[in-house]
Amino acid sequence: MYRAPINEIKFLFKDLFKMNDIFNSKDINTFDEDILDGILEEVGKLSENLIFPINKDGDKYPASLKDREVILPKSFYNAYKSIAEGGWIGISGDTKYGGLGLPLVFNTCVNELLSSACLSLALNPLMTQGQIEALEIHANEDIKKIFLPKLNSGEWCGTMNLTEPQAGSDVGALRTAAKKDTDGDYKIDGQKIYISWGDHSLSSNICHLLLARLPNSPTGTKGISLFLVPKYIPDNDGNLIARNTINTLSLEQKMGLHGSPTAVLEYKNAKAWLIGEENKGMKAMFTMMNNARLGVAVQGLSQSELATQMAIEFAKNRRQGRNLNNPNELTTSIINHADVRRNLLTMKSLTFVSRALCFDTALAIDISKATNDTLLKRKASFLTPIAKSFCTEMGAKVADLSIQVHGGMGYIEETGISQIYRDVRVTSIYEGTNGIQAMDFVGRKLGYSGDIAYSILHELEKNEDFIKLKYPELSKKINTARISINKALDWMIKQNDLNDRYSGAASFLRAFALILGANYMSKTLLTTNDKDKVELAQFFLNNILPFCNIESSISTLGKNNLYENANSVF
Ligand SMILES: Cc1cc2nc3c(=O)[nH]c(=O)nc-3n(C[C@H](O)[C@H](O)[C@H](O)COP(=O)(O)OP(=O)(O)OC[C@H]3O[C@@H](n4cnc5c(N)ncnc54)[C@H](O)[C@@H]3O)c2cc1C
Repeated sequence: MYRAPINEIKFLFKDLFKMNDIFNSKDINTFDEDILDGILEEVGKLSENLIFPINKDGDKYPASLKDREVILPKSFYNAYKSIAEGGWIGISGDTKYGGLGLPLVFNTCVNELLSSACLSLALNPLMTQGQIEALEIHANEDIKKIFLPKLNSGEWCGTMNLTEPQAGSDVGALRTAAKKDTDGDYKIDGQKIYISWGDHSLSSNICHLLLARLPNSPTGTKGISLFLVPKYIPDNDGNLIARNTINTLSLEQKMGLHGSPTAVLEYKNAKAWLIGEENKGMKAMFTMMNNARLGVAVQGLSQSELATQMAIEFAKNRRQGRNLNNPNELTTSIINHADVRRNLLTMKSLTFVSRALCFDTALAIDISKATNDTLLKRKASFLTPIAKSFCTEMGAKVADLSIQVHGGMGYIEETGISQIYRDVRVTSIYEGTNGIQAMDFVGRKLGYSGDIAYSILHELEKNEDFIKLKYPELSKKINTARISINKALDWMIKQNDLNDRYSGAASFLRAFALILGANYMSKTLLTTNDKDKVELAQFFLNNILPFCNIESSISTLGKNNLYENANSVF
């Protein structure tokens, strides 16, 4: 059973972030609370009634390749059609090309609901949405006219083609070759691996956004160009006129996300459209990757939400052991046991913080895009690796705790909990592993946005003063955490050797995510009297925030901790 958490989402939109006021204060007219309410109701129903029931099919019937055709779970066709017909793929696409033109914060909550309901299917629109944004920004008008309306409507799908056997985290090592024919057409030769939704027949065409190297281009990421390579070649009116020379060599057999076909694709002199300028592909692809990184953060959040809902439901119904608070009750619901309550409260508070982090990031992207505010642009790119890394790591942690709450039933396929764990695990790996995100955060992001880190701590300090009046003990805990991360931040920024920073990167990112969590939770205490929200905030500040002190202190141990002092270990 899955219930769309509409009230939780509305609380963040309306009470915590007061998004309507923020959009209005900047004269941006795309935010409308009535539209949001309507969307949440409609997508909530779609997710609960049509998409969630197919989630198990996506696990039990892995996508497979037969006679060069990809076979999908049958139920995926109707579900995909409903998502496309609802307009949910092109929800944030430019209205000029058939999108709905709604803010990314709307897209973010729609993606959460669809992903909770069926992660392997919802990965498909996520890839297309990233492509839509990349084409809007970097493609020329002719290309936009052919491709964008079909992508926005879901008639065609999009994929992202970076990875090759020797080029995973190190994208600059890619070898796929591009060349320009005498007639000016571009052609692609090479092999891409692990391509999500790389081949299927949910849509009539599949457009691959692909990185390749032109002859005599500089080595590394400076010599990479971006191309659009469709499975079927369209004419200028979007009619499909010929099959392109792309072969699906195989589909991966995976730990999870079985319903999503992960393809090895071979390009043999395939016709391609150059997107943006030659050798400037990496920058253009970053548009898609940044969008997708927030999307993957939302995937992590979506599985935390689902795992938490299922654990609470189970804990209310499963009876075991005596209730220590009521000795007359000889067998009680396990939700009355301290250890189970600790797990459930941990899950619920991590889910709350993950959602707030995703919405905060989406909001910064929306406002910075509409106003061209460079500070907010930097804030958005500062928050993106934190959201990607924290929400996906917590997704796996919360799924793990959900298995624990289910006891033996958590290990039995019938409950569906192990599917959540298997499905969510890859989110810490793809779209740049969480290790790479942490390095990006302490390297590039702290490098040019250290001021944003300090301003977030300053904001927390202000909240701390207000909280002191009503919750003096909590205010002390926030203060201790803030001082510990402030010290770590000063240390990080002073390090000239990047490897000293990188050695503490994962811990520092986690600590900073917890500080952002403290910010959201303290704002919650200042915003609402809702007992459930207040109690959850108190739990987080008392039980989870103290890990910030430990992570902060680990983050400053420096590289010797892992090199000179650990040389004989391996
Ligand atoms: C199910 C699935 C779907 C995917 N979908 C797509 C897709 O649609 N399109 C696409 O292009 N790719 C896709 N990928 C590929 C994915 O993005 C890569 O697997 C990922 O980027 C990691 O690359 P790799 O597997 O080569 O690991 P490696 O790069 O070999 O990394 C192995 C380990 O070493 C670490 N590491 C590597 N380099 C460094 C470094 N410099 N410093 C510190 N640590 C480092 C990594 O963090 C990781 O822990 C998908 C993968 C999977 C499993």
